[in-house]
Amino acid sequence: MHDVVIVGAGPVGLFLACELGLAGCSVLVLEREPEPRSPWRSFPLGMRGLSGGSAEAFYRRGMLPPLLAASGVAERPVTDEPAPPQSVGHFAGTPLDPADVDLARLPYRLPSPALDGIMTSLEAVETVLAERAGKLGVEIRRGVAVTAITQDDSAAVARAGEQEYPARWLVGCDGGRSTVRRLAGFDFDGTEPQLTGYLALVTLADPGLLAPGFTVTPQGMYLTMSEPGHLGVLDFDGGAYDRSRPPTREHLQSVLRRVSGTDVTLGELHLASTFTDRAKQATTYRRGRILLAGDAAHIHSPLGGQGLNLGIGDAMNLGWKLAATVAECAPSGLLDTYTAERHPIGARVLDWSRAQVAAMRPDRHSRAARSVLHDVLSTRDGTTYVFERTSGTSLHYDLGEQGLVGHNAPDFALENGTRVGDLLHDGRGVALDFTENGQLQEVTRRYGDRIRYEAGPAKNDLGFGAVLIRPDGIVAWAGERVPDRGSFERAVRRWF
Ligand SMILES: Cc1cc2nc3c(=O)[nH]c(=O)nc-3n(C[C@H](O)[C@H](O)[C@H](O)COP(=O)(O)OP(=O)(O)OC[C@H]3O[C@@H](n4cnc5c(N)ncnc54)[C@H](O)[C@@H]3O)c2cc1C
Repeated sequence: MHDVVIVGAGPVGLFLACELGLAGCSVLVLEREPEPRSPWRSFPLGMRGLSGGSAEAFYRRGMLPPLLAASGVAERPVTDEPAPPQSVGHFAGTPLDPADVDLARLPYRLPSPALDGIMTSLEAVETVLAERAGKLGVEIRRGVAVTAITQDDSAAVARAGEQEYPARWLVGCDGGRSTVRRLAGFDFDGTEPQLTGYLALVTLADPGLLAPGFTVTPQGMYLTMSEPGHLGVLDFDGGAYDRSRPPTREHLQSVLRRVSGTDVTLGELHLASTFTDRAKQATTYRRGRILLAGDAAHIHSPLGGQGLNLGIGDAMNLGWKLAATVAECAPSGLLDTYTAERHPIGARVLDWSRAQVAAMRPDRHSRAARSVLHDVLSTRDGTTYVFERTSGTSLHYDLGEQGLVGHNAPDFALENGTRVGDLLHDGRGVALDFTENGQLQEVTRRYGDRIRYEAGPAKNDLGFGAVLIRPDGIVAWAGERVPDRGSFERAVRRWF
């Protein structure tokens, strides 16, 4: 019997598998598709934007260089001072200027190799993760579609035909139409769609008729991307299109003509798929020995591109907690902090995607709201707000304390050149003691297999004497210039 069976070898299932493998769990991943490659996962249709927060997750496990290489992106030198981001993206089709981000409002955003997001593809992400999972002893079985699951007090069992796959824990990372979610009886609450979205690779007879980038029209929205013929269309039809079959050339042309208000002609239709803005979330991410992560736990429209980032955040949050539970060294209630911490983050992203749809609707009220939003978001405060929400900078778990606690750890650099991102490679927590007075080291000694102690002055300690960082890079405790040993000890016991 494995410690954990993961259903789904998408980016979230693979990221979680790496986290569990790193912690020494025996992991089996079951994947329905016999082959990892498909045109939907490679460039251009499989193109995905990873936020700075997700890039940081790869950096913290030593996977940033291979991911940049697989994505065709050059490594970036780390600057001495915080620099403006390379891009902020858009809100409801309104592009925002990175030069407007107010860095003074982001004191915890220290220079780091992972500061900016990465434009990559599902294929690149999955290739890097699958290779690493293999090195960590994870077994990936392809061509296995899970069709039944059961659980009792001691185990969960996934079934594919006659074959049974028992494990102590089972995690559904099987995407938006999750079989695990349905079979395990998770409630999935949210809102029904207002639109049908189309994503296609076509040959355009007269490409000059369509504007570049996002264009919001009185009938909807269309988007032409840098790759010729790669386009998206939003049709506010209440999600009425029958998505059981891919759209035909004639249908797509008629929708594109209506939405764009042009008589554009589609030549060949190479590939096309549809999506909606249905926004739903499992009410809990755990039922007994079965957990959900990624799109299996939450779905929303791809507008603003956050689903993958949300899923990687789930995997990073769940991995070390489940591993500690498997190893029977987890403090009481640790595993349930997964839902407690990640559910509100998911709910915020769902609302962010709903807000974009509301602002893009072609009715007069939405047009008026979009015009006001456009003015507000184009200010320095507005652009900074959007950047904080989409880059992961504003990520915060309510751990009961103010300040840095609950935030993503800044990438502190020690005088000897070591950075927080390097210290987290082996998946242990990190106690960073900037005072070197040795008191905190004594506390961590008993936790050597779970906490790494590192002492030395920081190039940028931001006024803290010491910080305790969880394996997922979240600050669990932050001490004053003279750290209080008692409160540090309590934080260590709470999380490790
Ligand atoms: C057009 C588009 C653009 C997007 N752009 C972005 C972006 O820029 N940034 C971003 O963050 N997000 C973006 N997203 C969202 C992102 O792609 C998803 O959120 C992400 O792929 C979810 O990963 P996952 O591993 O949870 O699920 P999936 O990627 O759906 O993987 C699930 C896996 O489970 C397997 N599976 C399913 N059922 C079974 C079963 N019964 N048994 C075994 N295996 C099974 C599937 O074959 C699949 O491999 C976009 C989405 C779309 C549609």
